[in-house]
Formats: sequence, C-alpha cells, structure tokens
Amino acid sequence: MNAEIEQLGLKPWNSPQPHVVILGAGASKAAFLNGDGNSKLLPLMNDLPIILGDDWKRLVKDSHAPDEDFESQFSWIKANGNFKEQLSLIEFTIGRYFQSLELPQQPTIYDHLVLGLRRQDVIASFNWDPLLLMAHKRNRNVGTLPDIRFLHGCVSFATCVDHDVLGSPAEYCPQCGKTLVGGKMLFPDGQKDYAEDAVIQRDWNEVGKKLSEAFHLTIFGYAGPASDFKAKELLLQSWVKAPLRDLSHVEIINTEDSAKSRERWAKFIPYQHDMVLSTFWESSIAKFPRRTAEWKLQASINGMQSDEIGPCEAASLTELQAWYSRLAREEIKQLKH
Ligand SMILES: [Zn+2]
Repeated sequence: MNAEIEQLGLKPWNSPQPHVVILGAGASKAAFLNGDGNSKLLPLMNDLPIILGDDWKRLVKDSHAPDEDFESQFSWIKANGNFKEQLSLIEFTIGRYFQSLELPQQPTIYDHLVLGLRRQDVIASFNWDPLLLMAHKRNRNVGTLPDIRFLHGCVSFATCVDHDVLGSPAEYCPQCGKTLVGGKMLFPDGQKDYAEDAVIQRDWNEVGKKLSEAFHLTIFGYAGPASDFKAKELLLQSWVKAPLRDLSHVEIINTEDSAKSRERWAKFIPYQHDMVLSTFWESSIAKFPRRTAEWKLQASINGMQSDEIGPCEAASLTELQAWYSRLAREEIKQLKH
C-alpha cells in the first residue's frame, strides 16, 4: 500500500463528512456465504421457515394464513390476534437461533466494514444477528470505529436505559454502573411503530441525525420490503436534509438486477450520483477504506482522482488489523498537525 498513496492524495481530513451504511439481511448473507463460524446458515427473511420447521408449518395451517412470503404471513398472523402464544414460541426460536451464531476465526466482510469506516460514520443494521457487533468488539483496539445502531433490534445488543451505550448483556454501564438491558427485536409488522420501544427509538434518532449530515450513503443487502415502508420514509426524511445533497453519493450493494435497485431507491439518489455494485469488494469502503469522504469529495469538487488503497487481502485477522492500523495511525498523525 499505501504510505505513498496516503502522501499523494488521500491524507486523512480532521473532520470528514459522515458515511452512513444501511445493512439488510443480504449483507449478513454475503458476509457469511458459507455460514457462520460453525457453518450455520445466515437466513434471509424467507429462509426462516427452514429454521422453524414444523412449528411454523403448523401455525400457518392453523391460522389459515394466506399463501404469501414469511414476512407477510407473520404480519398477517400477528394482526389476526388469536395466536399470541404460538407466535411467541416462533419469536423465541428465531432469537435463540441468532444467539447461537459465531464469527469465524478468519477475517470477514464485517471486519472490513467496521475497520473501513471511522468514528464519525455509522452502520445502521436491520439485522438481528450478533455478528456485526462481534466484529466491532474484536477490532475495537485497532483504530476509531464507526457507531453501530440496530433499527430492528439485535439479539446480542444491550444498553443502559439512561445512557447511550453500545454493550452486551451482563455488561455494566460505564456511566452509572447499572447492568445493561437487552434490546427488543422487532418482528414483521405492517404497522411498525419505532417509538414504542425507547431503545430502538434512540437508535433511529441517532441514524437520522447522521444521515442529515452525511455525504455518503451505502445500502448493503437491504431491499426495503413493503413491510418496511415506514422505515424507508424515515430514512429518506433525514437523507434529503444532507448539506451536500447535490453532490452526495449513494452506493447500493446488491446481487439483484441493477435497474431494479435503482428504481427501488430512486428517491434516495440525487442527480444519478449512484453506483450499483454486486459485491462489497467493489465498494468505496473496500477500495478507499477509512478515506471514502476524502476520495469522493476530491473527485467531485476538485476533479482529483485518487489511487485505490484497498481492498486489503490479509488472510489472517492479525494481518488485517495490522493493515488497517497503519491507516488509523495516519489519522492520529494528521490530528496532531
Ligand atoms: Zn447508565
């Protein structure tokens, strides 16, 4: 790399504009294509019936739910109101499955993602699995990392009701000493109300704030299904306030047809400043880790092209962390100037 490249054109800025990343189930799927550390499947919403087996089949039959996808059926049964106990069992089984997932030893896309962003950035996840939080934890000492927020809750996330802390169950609040409490998981519901749960509402507010200051938005593996209509509207309300909106940049990482992705997110994309990519490795975060704002704004405002810094191809976690810590050290040097 990169000491040379850093000197050429991508010296870190002291306060770059935030980069916001939205993660959907497709991101966890892409990050763990061969499953988690124990080869357990990372399910998309429509894979959940495989995990739930007969309990789900029975509930669909008993409730006469219409022949639709999992999310619509779940939402329909919930609205029906007569199957509360069975639905609680389904929610419990889903939670327990996600709780059992573990990170592999070797570097994953989630390691690259948390290390490829900085303190002012935020990753907002719609996923319940614990793997993003685990990647955040194991890389915490490498450099400043982005904030992590859970828009639908997460099985391993715990926080303090009074203080905004990113923790895990059984940990204590560093500010008041109280035991952290586990956040709720939000299950499919056509009428989702994010204000019903104070912790989830707090995460929504923080993401909204960042989006309204951001320059860069990456939507990774998130299709924004019909049941998330409200979620998309909330995100858009903040994103249209971004100060550099005319220049701002949207990047979509998704395996679906690119025209379909563009159509889905059309309201989010100002003046065709978008890129639709099929893998994380083609993204700005992989190619310009920890420097996405410097790269894009130099290109957009000054017409200056920069050489790519990544992707980092380290085979082991130690090697990966050493690679990213060199970039992080440049940031500290710059701050001292
Ligand atoms: Zn506290």
